[in-house]
Amino acid sequence: MGKKELIMKKLKLDELLDFLRNMEPAPPPEPLQSHMDISVDELYKRNLTSQKWDDGESRNIITIPKFPNCKRCYEGYLHHHTQDAMVACPHCLGAWRKAKRIERARLPVDAAGKTFANYQITPSFEEVGKTIINWSERETKEKGALLYGPPGTGKSHFAYAIAHELLWRDFRVRYATHTSLLDLERLTWNDKSRQSPLRTLLKDVDVLILDEVGGVGGGYGKVTDWQKRTTSEMLDNIYRQWASGELYVLFISNVPLNTFQRTYNKAIQSRLQEMLKPVFIDQTDKRQR
Ligand SMILES: [Zn+2]
Repeated sequence: MGKKELIMKKLKLDELLDFLRNMEPAPPPEPLQSHMDISVDELYKRNLTSQKWDDGESRNIITIPKFPNCKRCYEGYLHHHTQDAMVACPHCLGAWRKAKRIERARLPVDAAGKTFANYQITPSFEEVGKTIINWSERETKEKGALLYGPPGTGKSHFAYAIAHELLWRDFRVRYATHTSLLDLERLTWNDKSRQSPLRTLLKDVDVLILDEVGGVGGGYGKVTDWQKRTTSEMLDNIYRQWASGELYVLFISNVPLNTFQRTYNKAIQSRLQEMLKPVFIDQTDKRQR
């Protein structure tokens, strides 16, 4: 005779059944908030991003961990209503795919949360912004912009906001800095299995945002022959893809176009002039919050 039998005797069966009969049924689990109409601002507000160190480019980039799924689906997939097949859950995967593009853009950690929602646009920026949005609607060959001027005038914030805007419109954006590209190229010296970024940088890219252009070697022409040669080759590749109408380019620099240009040969200089419209950004364009 154990303890168990003693407990059983204390319970009256009818009372127990009454209790179970009158118990409220447990509510079904609440589905998680849908990601269907999530905006890029919402993405950052909900902290659905993290960061990782990019060895190649020696900088921290934004990454997107997999969203928690909405609980209406099986790990992001649903049964098709007529076919015997699973289809992507619209509540989950659409937004997640968009978010993945942010990761592929290799935006720096600084860019997290920097969108037009928290950016007071000034006339100089507004004009460039309009040109870019127009381009995004037509997608025909369009002269890119080189934003230059002193540091701290909001050029990078603008570039990040544009990147987010275009990513959310499903464009494939690639962000890099002049130095990070040279770092990437340098890696191929010792590792022959790595593809040169000169060849892979612009693959499946619609928009290139190149920041800190001319920032190599202090930005005033103090560059090594290797830096000069590699940069020339990169600019040449960028120009070719732009000239074929398959790329939009936005360059950001703290040095004026002609200072930067002087480092390179005549052919590169004329290509830069053909591809980019210089836009001077000064303190009056400094962002106001
Ligand atoms: Zn779902």
